[in-house]
Amino acid sequence: MAASTEVPRPIIIEDECKGCGRCIAACPRKVLRPAQRVNRRGFVPAEYVGEGCTGCAICFYNCPEIYAIEVHTADKEGGQ
Ligand code: SF4
Ligand code: SF4
Repeated sequence: MAASTEVPRPIIIEDECKGCGRCIAACPRKVLRPAQRVNRRGFVPAEYVGEGCTGCAICFYNCPEIYAIEVHTADKEGGQ
């Protein structure tokens, strides 16, 4: 009954992303890819394919832009 329906997922803030691709290369599940568009700064941002994320946060730790990507997990959504 208390089980969360939240599934882990990366949230990419497109306009903060520099399109370096580090998160895409680092993701062990290969669930990130370059988007089919450019952001306001002229970079091709990363995007989530929509499923398969485990919430490992490796993408977050490999991103040099502190505001570009975060990972939502059931734990985080539930507060501390
Ligand atoms: S949290 Fe892990 S599995 Fe999910 S997108 Fe990031 S690196 Fe990939
Ligand atoms: S590592 Fe960060 S800046 Fe680089 S593509 Fe991924 S989200 Fe964008």
